[in-house]
Amino acid sequence: MLLEVHDLHVEFRTRDGVAHAVNGVGFGVDAGRTLAVLGESGSGKSVTAQAVMGILDSPPARITGGRILFQGRDLLRLKEEERRRIRGARMAMVFQDALSALNPVLTVGDQLGEMFVVHRGMSKKDARARAVELMDRVRIPGAAQRVRDHPHQFSGGMRQRIMIAMALALEPALVIADEPTTALDVTVQAQVMDLLAELRREYRMGLVLITHDLGVVADVADRIAVMYAGRIVESAPVHDLYRAPAHPYTKGLLESIPRLDRKGRELHAIKGLPPSLTDIPAGCAFHPRCPLARDVCRTGTPPLYEVDEDRSSACHFWRECLDG
Ligand code: ADP
Ligand code: MG
Repeated sequence: MLLEVHDLHVEFRTRDGVAHAVNGVGFGVDAGRTLAVLGESGSGKSVTAQAVMGILDSPPARITGGRILFQGRDLLRLKEEERRRIRGARMAMVFQDALSALNPVLTVGDQLGEMFVVHRGMSKKDARARAVELMDRVRIPGAAQRVRDHPHQFSGGMRQRIMIAMALALEPALVIADEPTTALDVTVQAQVMDLLAELRREYRMGLVLITHDLGVVADVADRIAVMYAGRIVESAPVHDLYRAPAHPYTKGLLESIPRLDRKGRELHAIKGLPPSLTDIPAGCAFHPRCPLARDVCRTGTPPLYEVDEDRSSACHFWRECLDG
């Protein structure tokens, strides 16, 4: 397995107390596969991604437990120098906001080219040629001219393509894309998502696709891990999860996607709000919002039950959920 995360814990010390952002998260990604990590805002998705990339701000963040194995090595035991070498070259990240991730004063050609100059020791001229190739590859029209433009001269969708090009420049084994299409129009979202999926196949890289929108990942992901209050509450192959969710939270998310075949029907958005991570409810964190909740849900934290050989759910009543 390319990436394995085991029992990861991350907390933030804040004035309001300790925020338990990540509470025992585990997942794996194979080479050439896409894992979608799904959850509402504030569920710990970005913190998990930043922990894997080694770009968490600490302080205030603190990794208090777990292991992150990348190509068999435990990243949390490496020296910062070694991690820096892995970052960019072997694992790369695509952020939601390209405008703040790209350097506003450099042309996109210089930024892309710099990757090849710094990491591959290429001449400026060769690096420039590679930058144009990459821009072509992510289908930026007129790449040979546009390589001289600055980030703000591109549309949001084109900027996101440039950031994808930056991430792929050194052909990393793993790419983590954190809400890469959230800031884009719906039609552009689909194009960027398709591009990512296509490049993932071509480069045979592992892709972790973080999103709060179940609608955008259905066609591109192999597996989905659903996060709630810093935990993974359900993990399953995409089609199984769509056909029959094994956790009431997943079920609620599915029912809140607008679907053409359900036109006219009311959307069943999940009632209530996700908990504050400084004050996570005892027992199952989802119990205050859960239609299936019973006494047992208010006390013990449910373990991850094995639903199937490649599926798990952190609901005591996963059977009921599957059947209903
Ligand atoms: P999301 O699932 O929306 O990506 P995040 O992973 O960004 O959520 O954040 C999860 C939680 O971690 C936040 O709700 C907050 O409690 C905590 N957190 C994240 N970043 C910080 C920070 N810089 N300082 C304090 N708490 C933070
Ligand atoms: Mg986030």
